[in-house]
Amino acid sequence: PLEGRHAIVTGSTSGIGLGVARALAGAGAAVTLNSFTDRPEDHAIAQAMADEFSVTVRYIRADMSQGEECRALIAQAGGCDILVNNAGIQHVAPIEDFPPETWDRILAINLASAFHTIAAALPGMRARGWGRIINMASAHGLTASPYKAAYVAAKHGLVGLTKTVALEVAGQGITCNAICPGYVLTPLVEAQIPDQMRTHGMDRETVIREVMLARQPSRQFATVEQIGGTTVFLCSEAAAQITGTTISVDGGWTAL
Ligand code: NAD
Repeated sequence: PLEGRHAIVTGSTSGIGLGVARALAGAGAAVTLNSFTDRPEDHAIAQAMADEFSVTVRYIRADMSQGEECRALIAQAGGCDILVNNAGIQHVAPIEDFPPETWDRILAINLASAFHTIAAALPGMRARGWGRIINMASAHGLTASPYKAAYVAAKHGLVGLTKTVALEVAGQGITCNAICPGYVLTPLVEAQIPDQMRTHGMDRETVIREVMLARQPSRQFATVEQIGGTTVFLCSEAAAQITGTTISVDGGWTAL
């Protein structure tokens, strides 16, 4: 259903971004992958995805903490029909101990990057009369947790940006929405499990149920495939009137 569309997914060499890129490629879209590195592995991921799904996939390096590089990514990719703002980082510390430069960096990567890529991508979408902008927010775009000041502030900001963009493009064939995942099983999260098992003296299943998924009523991780499927749905004709809103994929977290 997405043949002839070109998608850019920021921060897409691992985790959710990679899962979303794979889902879009599987639906027939040409894909531009991105991260801040320029390693042979990055280009190899693009080549493997192109081979697997028989679509055009390329990799473009750009650091999403730098506004000019965000805009240059869109320009270098030749614009896009689907923009997924996924790049994001986390830091956990009480406010008094939160390093100011880390606050700035999280706000830059998790929030400001979307402002820059959207500004750069919109003229092309308007000219073609079609576009899908999907911002990877979080359950932390709707609720808070202690010690995640910058992340929670940035993700709430991203939800606000999502609504504003939706209003500015309403009726122009372009939608803008945010996906709010709860805990998703990515390599990053998987890597925390052994540590948590040691810290709490629990087995894998117990640490997942009682510690990691304590706030996720389903007590099950969401998967990158499910986030990918939600993204493809938002790109479909069925979702053409869904705009300026959030879709939670959080096992009931925000229902609590
Ligand atoms: P991840 O660390 O596996 O992926 C993050 C991606 O962003 C990586 O590809 C990384 O290379 C890229 N990135 C980091 N800094 C960058 C920069 N300066 N420039 C360009 N790319 C950069 O993490 P993930 O869990 O897949 O998270 C992806 C997004 O989903 C993030 O925005 C995160 O906040 C959000 N999210 C994740 C979860 C979860 O449980 N994993 C839950 C809710 C929301």
